[in-house]
Amino acid sequence: MRLLARLEELYAIGGGARLGYSAEEDAAHELADRWMREAGLEVGRDEAGNLFGHRGDARVWSGSHLDTVPNGGRFDGALGVVAAIEAADRLRESALAVVAFRAEESGPLGSRRLAELPGAFLEVHIEQGPVLERLGEPLGIVTGVAGQARGAITFEGRAAHAGTTPMQERSDALVEAARFVLHARDCARDNAVATVGALEVEPGVANVVPERVTASVDVRAPTAEALETLIQAIGFEPSWRQDPVAMSGPPLDALRAVLPGAPELVSGAGHDAMVLAAAGVPTAMLFVRSLNGGISHSPDELSSAEDIALAVDALTETLGRLSAAHTSGV
Ligand SMILES: [Zn+2]
Repeated sequence: MRLLARLEELYAIGGGARLGYSAEEDAAHELADRWMREAGLEVGRDEAGNLFGHRGDARVWSGSHLDTVPNGGRFDGALGVVAAIEAADRLRESALAVVAFRAEESGPLGSRRLAELPGAFLEVHIEQGPVLERLGEPLGIVTGVAGQARGAITFEGRAAHAGTTPMQERSDALVEAARFVLHARDCARDNAVATVGALEVEPGVANVVPERVTASVDVRAPTAEALETLIQAIGFEPSWRQDPVAMSGPPLDALRAVLPGAPELVSGAGHDAMVLAAAGVPTAMLFVRSLNGGISHSPDELSSAEDIALAVDALTETLGRLSAAHTSGV
């Protein structure tokens, strides 16, 4: 299958490390440029460096990103670009564009800097989670991207000698932080998640009772209300927040028509599709089952050739319908 060979070709660049705006990402864009031309598309770039392959009055776009995290896998981002090129190759009569956004993993940066927006956007992406694998389903329709908030909380104690300070006389900031980690976990319910992923311990010495601990907090929830409830329950002040965005309109309707009965899920990860949807573009996402328990941002990230083939078929059918609707509607 040509698409799998292309994913390998991309992975070979930097061995799964193609950071945003690096020489490796540039090289990946050069490859995609060539594949777009082979699919009969006219290629151009915008000021942010996003790559477009378009045909005709392209109001319907599909694509994803070609950058990765430092030790990334073969599918995250790349699959959505090569699948869209494949669909465009099959839809030689349709007005559409394939886009490779810049620097998704470090922003998203490229999709936030679009000079013009499409009339509809559709992104194929690996699920990066275990839900579809558990359901035994190859494909899933994303109904929205979870809201997310991040912040930090600091616990103050008193530095003291680890050998001479009796337990009852200590004020240990790390013990407080440990209680907080468990508290945050207990607050996250009903598809909401909370993570304390980084602790900074001061002075950070084995024989000193910790004086100060700063804990990071990352929370995500399917609705703005659930996100706010979770923030209040945990009790921290977010320094950054992204409200949930809904997939909607003709792209979502078309996906549902093409894949009746497909499971629907909320994405816990942010994507370029989230940026476009938040900007008011009718947007949909198609998730492809992740194998290996849903592991992602890792070389072990995996989807099967069979599942990918189904995704390309569904994407082609959906894009064909959307392109036809946009062409006859104007
Ligand atoms: Zn991605």
